[in-house]
Amino acid sequence: MSFPKVYWEQALELAPLFNELVHRVSLDGEFLQQTLARTKEADSFTRRLLEIHSKMMEINKKEEIQLGLTRSDYMVDGATDRLLQVELNTISTSSNGLACGVCELHRNLIRHHERELGLDPSGVVGNTAITQHAEALASAWAEYNNQRAVVVVVVQAEERYMYDQYWITVALREMYGVTTVRKTMAEIEVEGELRPDGTLVINGSPVAVVYLRAGYSPNDYPSEAEWRARLLIERSSAIKCPSIAHHLVGTKKIQQELAKENVLERFLDNKSDIEKVRKCFAGLWSLENDSIVRSAIESPELFVLKPQREGGGNNIYGDNLRETLIRLRRGGSNEIAAYILMQRIFPPASLSYLVREGICVRENAVSEFGVFGAYLRNKDKVIINDQCGYLLRTKAASLNEGGVVAGFAFLNCIFLS
Ligand code: ADP
Ligand code: MG
Ligand code: MG
Repeated sequence: MSFPKVYWEQALELAPLFNELVHRVSLDGEFLQQTLARTKEADSFTRRLLEIHSKMMEINKKEEIQLGLTRSDYMVDGATDRLLQVELNTISTSSNGLACGVCELHRNLIRHHERELGLDPSGVVGNTAITQHAEALASAWAEYNNQRAVVVVVVQAEERYMYDQYWITVALREMYGVTTVRKTMAEIEVEGELRPDGTLVINGSPVAVVYLRAGYSPNDYPSEAEWRARLLIERSSAIKCPSIAHHLVGTKKIQQELAKENVLERFLDNKSDIEKVRKCFAGLWSLENDSIVRSAIESPELFVLKPQREGGGNNIYGDNLRETLIRLRRGGSNEIAAYILMQRIFPPASLSYLVREGICVRENAVSEFGVFGAYLRNKDKVIINDQCGYLLRTKAASLNEGGVVAGFAFLNCIFLS
C-alpha cells in the first residue's frame, strides 16, 4: 500500500506519547475504577478485570518494573486527510511476527520483479517489530535480575498466533539466551505457585516476565480456573505485560474518556504533546449523550458502536447499530454503559490485489495502520520508550470489520510515498 510519509512520521512521533500516557493513566487507579464503574454493572467481563484491579489497589500492590508492548491503530480519514486513532491496544497486540514476514515477502517480490514493476524495493518500510519486542522483553527480564528466571508466554488453548509467539521465543533464546515457556491460563493455575516473597514459580522455574498473549477475551476464561490464574499472576512479583491496570487503560471506555475535554491534561504535562495526541482522536461518545444517540439512530452509517471487547468482530454497524440503540434506549437499562459510540472513519480506497489461500482478487480496498510500541520502566527510570515497527492491514472497502485472523483483512506493508 502506497502510504504518505507525513502520516507515517506522525504515527511514529505519537508512539512514545501514547506509551507514556498509558503508563500515567495506569497509575491512577481511582480514575480507572470510576470511569469504568457503570460499565462494570453492564458487562461482567469488565467487572471481573476490575475486581482484580481493585484487589491490587486494596493491598497497595506496586509494580516497580512496568513493561508495555502496545499497538496504536489508525486510519486516515479521507474527508479531512487526518490520521485518526481507531484504538489503542495494550493487550490484544498480535501480528508483530506476521507483519515482519509480510514486509520481507513484499520486498523480495518487488526485488524479483523490479523491471516489470518499476518500483524501488527500498520503498518498502522494513519492520522491526519482532526484534524490538524481543529486546524489550529481554531488557525486562534483565531488570528482574534472576538468571534462573524464565519468560512465560500465556497462550490460548487453541492458538492461532503461534508463529508470532514462536519468532519472539526464538529471538529471546538466540539473541539474549532467555528461556521462554508457553502456558495456557489453565496450566498456570495448576502448575503455578506463589512463594512467600512474591516470586511466581511455574514447574520449579521462577518467572521474570509474564507476556500475556491471551486473557483479553471472555473466551480465554472458560472457567474459574483461568480467573484464579490471572489473579495469581497479578499478585506475584513477575513483570506483567500487561499489568491489570495497563490492560484496563486499553478499554474502549477509557479511550472515550480520554477524548473528553481536559482529561488528557490530567495525565500529560507538555502542551504540544497534548495537542499532538488530541489531534488524532476521532469523535468518541458515551451512550449517555442522548443527542449523539439520536444522530446515530438517524445516520447509523456515520458511526461504529463498540462494546468493551478485543480481537475483532465485536463492533456493531449500520441497521444493526440503529436497532441496538433503539432497543437500549427503550430498555432504559444500564446496558448502555457497556458500549461507546465512535465516529466512523472512511479511509481513501484504492485498487489492491488481495490474496487468500492462493486466490487473488482485485478490489477497492482501504487500510488500517498500527504502530507497535514498547515501554519499559524500573521505578523512576524509563529504560525504553519507543515505536517498534508496524502492522498494515488492508480490507475490501465494503467491509465493516477489519481483523486478519477474524477473516476480514489482509496483511500488507507500507510503501512510502
Ligand atoms: P478490536 O479491539 O476488536 O480490534 P477495533 O476498535 O479495532 O476493535 O475495531 C475492529 C475493526 O473495526 C477495526 O480493525 C476497523 O477495521 C473497524 N473499525 C473500528 N473503529 C472504526 C471506526 N471508527 N471507523 C471505521 N472502522 C472502524
Ligand atoms: Mg483492540
Ligand atoms: Mg483493533
